[in-house]
Parts: sequence; C-alpha cells; structure tokens
Amino acid sequence: MSNFKPDRSFAIELDRNDPLAKYRNEFHIPKDAKGNDLIYLCGNSLGLQPKITKDAIAQELNDWANLGVEGHLEAKNPWLPYHEFLTEGMAKIVGAKPIEVVVMNTLTANLHFMMVSFYRPTKKRYKILIESDAFPSDKFAVESQLRHHGFNQHEGIILWKPREDEELLRYEDLEDIMKEHGDEIALIMIGGVNYYTGQYFDLERITKLGHNYGAVVGFDCAHGAGNVPLNLHKTGADFAVWCTYKYMNSGPGSLSGCFVHERHAYSKNLNRFTGWWSHNKETRFNMRDEFDQLPGAEGWQLSNPPILSMAAIKASIDVFMEAGVERLFKKSIILTEYFEYLLHNLDHKKISIITPQNPSERGCQLSIQVKNADKNLHDKLTKSGVISDWREPDVIRCAPVPLYNSFQDVYHMVEKLKMILHA
Ligand SMILES: *Cc1c(COP(=O)(O)O)cnc(C)c1O
Repeated sequence: MSNFKPDRSFAIELDRNDPLAKYRNEFHIPKDAKGNDLIYLCGNSLGLQPKITKDAIAQELNDWANLGVEGHLEAKNPWLPYHEFLTEGMAKIVGAKPIEVVVMNTLTANLHFMMVSFYRPTKKRYKILIESDAFPSDKFAVESQLRHHGFNQHEGIILWKPREDEELLRYEDLEDIMKEHGDEIALIMIGGVNYYTGQYFDLERITKLGHNYGAVVGFDCAHGAGNVPLNLHKTGADFAVWCTYKYMNSGPGSLSGCFVHERHAYSKNLNRFTGWWSHNKETRFNMRDEFDQLPGAEGWQLSNPPILSMAAIKASIDVFMEAGVERLFKKSIILTEYFEYLLHNLDHKKISIITPQNPSERGCQLSIQVKNADKNLHDKLTKSGVISDWREPDVIRCAPVPLYNSFQDVYHMVEKLKMILHA
C-alpha cells in the first residue's frame, strides 16, 4: 500500500481508526522493569494471555472443588462433552466443517496419529515429501515414521528446496519433483506457513498436485491457525494439525487442533489407534461393548482431555469469535504492510525481508534477515524492549498480531531498530 506515511502521528491515526484496537486491552501485555509495555512481536512463538483466561480456568477449578466427579455432568461447562464447546469456533478459525475438527493431544503427537492413518506405505510408494526447512519436530516425526515402517529415513525423505541463493520455495520445483518421483511418494507433509520464512503456501494447489499423483496430503498449520484464513475444507487436504499456543493464545504447551477432511469422516478402512474417546458416545460408558467408531475427526481422540487447558482454549476462541476472524485477517494485512513499509524506509544494507511481499502468501510474520548473521542486532533489540525471536542461521522473526498489537507497536519497533542500526 502506498498511502502510508512515515511519521508517528500516522501510526496514532491508524490506531485511532482501528475497529479492533480495543482488544489490546483484553490481553496481558508483558512489561519491562519500569512497568512500561514491552513491544511484544512474538505471538508466532507464544501468544499472549487473554484477561478472561484466568476466570475460565478458575471456573473449572471451582467446579472440581465443589462437585468432584459430578463435574463431568454437573459443571457449568460439563467436562464430558467439553471438547465439543471448542469445535464450532475452531472450525471457523481454520475454515473447516465442525465434523472435520477436534481439539486433542499435543501437536507432534497428533502429527504421528495422523500418519498412523494417512501414511500407509508400500514397497514401491513409501516416500514422504517435506519442505527442506521443515520445523525440526515435524522432520523428526516423519523420520521416525519411516523407521517405524522399516524404511531408511534418508532414502525415504524427499526435500522441496529453495533454489540456490533463494529463500522461498517455488511451485514449479514441486511440480518437477512430482513428475520425477510422483509414483514413489506416499505422503506430502508441508508446514502450511513456514516457521522460518513466513511463506504461506497455496495449500489447495499443493493438495491437487499431490492427489493427482496418488499421494496423501497433510499440513502442519502451527503457524497458520489464527494467523491466516486457512480454508482447510476447501483445500481438500486429507489432514492438518496445529497447536493453540502460538497465534491461538491458549498458553504454553496447550493442546493441538486436528482436521480430517469430511470425505474420511465415515471411513472404515483407515487404520487408526483408538481409545475409549474414539468410541460412540452413547455407549462409551457401558464399558463392555465391541468397539464402535465415532465418526469424523472426533473419532481420532483417545483419552478424556485436560479440561484446564481446554478452558484456556475456549477463552481464546471466545475472543476470536467476538473480534471476528475476517476482521482480524483484514487488519493483519494492513498491519504487516505498514511494518514492511517502515522497514523498507529504513533502507539499510544490514537487513532485508525474506518473507513474500504478496499478502496472500504470508501471514503477519516478517522474517528479517541480518547480514553476516549478526545476532547482536537481535540482542540489542531485546534490550531496547522489543520481544522478537532469533532463528538460526540469520533471521529475526517479528509477528505483529492483529488482536493485541498496535500500529504504534510496529512504529516504535522500527524506530528502535533504526537507532540500533545507526548507532
Ligand atoms: C511450534 C511447532 C511445533 C511444536 O510442536 P509441539 O508438539 O507442540 O511441541 C511443531 N511443528 C511446527 C511446524 C511448529 O510450528
């Protein structure tokens, strides 16, 4: 957008005209030693705490204190169906149908459970395609699945890599890989938004390509959920997983979301690991029945879930629903474009942005590459009151989050960066 202006009064004006500005006050903003708000641009790693979260958790603690086991049915939000309270909102946030979504387990665990069902290798078709800079946990999970099925983890992985001297991945290169190896690839498993570059992939395009070659397609949307309009149902992907502690503001180590496309909802042919929570709800407590599979994504649950963590997720979803996901994604585009504009204005040789420029190919995160991998720059930013993160080898990740970051946050961050660069 070209009609931004570089001065502080413009940032103030943008905040004044922002219909979502009031939500900042509904979050706890971390403070420095003097009690001033830090500039928190790290929602890509751990989202901030909504103020209503404490009461939401206290509600369950009180019901447990007052009701004991009766809370399963008698709590204000009964624990037995508790995960169902999260489904509709979560489905809206990731663009899915309620039958396609469940909150359960943690992220890497869900990735494994999805691969139990959707990675069914044969001697000829057993390889897994991932992006070359996949999040380490995902890479380790994929490698161990290969070993688990008796394959060599090096031979079994095909990497989609950037070209030399480039950072971003190109679809032509993925098409070439599929042309050459399409009949060997059992599964394509890509991070929907790359954690390092911030590149948001065309999930529908990747899914169509994979399906054309007979591969199953799944995405890890840890950096997408709550950040970009994933439209998971429309992508046609077979499965997706994500965590809720990044853009979904549900607290450290909180549970994961899981998507299984509707076309698999009633499938009897998919292999899965099961437990009593995958069993038909009506007869679950007869305790003696033959196993009766629950349809949809819910059918992948194993255990009765941790209610305290789910209470935090419920609180977070309530905030999202009130603010409105369309409005959030709309603000996000402007906020990040403004950030990009100010960084470009700095025009400094020491830094460049590796995240795609096209708003439909990124979320709110900008990855700032630092010349000569000078980590000092990040340390100085931290000292100046900017919370961002450094990712090896040479990137500072900054994510202005539309729910709680302001245009002035972005303005002040760039002013501090400017002072450090020119010191
Ligand atoms: C954050 C993140 C993880 C973390 O996994 P946990 O199981 O929640 O510890 C895994 N994969 C990706 C792509 C992530 O962004």
